[in-house]
Amino acid sequence: MTNRSKAINDLDEVKEHMGGGSDVSETILDNLLAYLTVDQIKDFTEHFKRTHDIMGYEQYELCRDCQGTFDSNKSCGCEDTQPPQGSSSYFSSLVPEC
Ligand SMILES: [Zn+2]
Repeated sequence: MTNRSKAINDLDEVKEHMGGGSDVSETILDNLLAYLTVDQIKDFTEHFKRTHDIMGYEQYELCRDCQGTFDSNKSCGCEDTQPPQGSSSYFSSLVPEC
C-alpha cells in the first residue's frame, strides 16, 4: 500500500467512526479546506476544473490543427487563417525543382 492510499484509508476510517455518509464527507471537506492554505485551495480548484467536465463552465481545449488553446464552447477559428487543403505553397514551395 502506498503512503497516499494509507493516508486516505486512515481518513476513511475517521469518516466511518463518525458514521459515514455525505454529511460527514461535508464536515471533513469543510475542515480540510480550513486546514489547507489559500494557495493549495487555488491549485486544487484549478486542477479540479481541468480534470472534470463541469457543465457550462468555460473550458479550454487544445486544437489539433494549430496546437493552440481555444474556448471549447466556441471553435478555434484557426481554420480561417490556414490555407485551404490542397492549395499551393506549403511544402511544395520548399522542394527544389529538378
Ligand atoms: Zn486551431
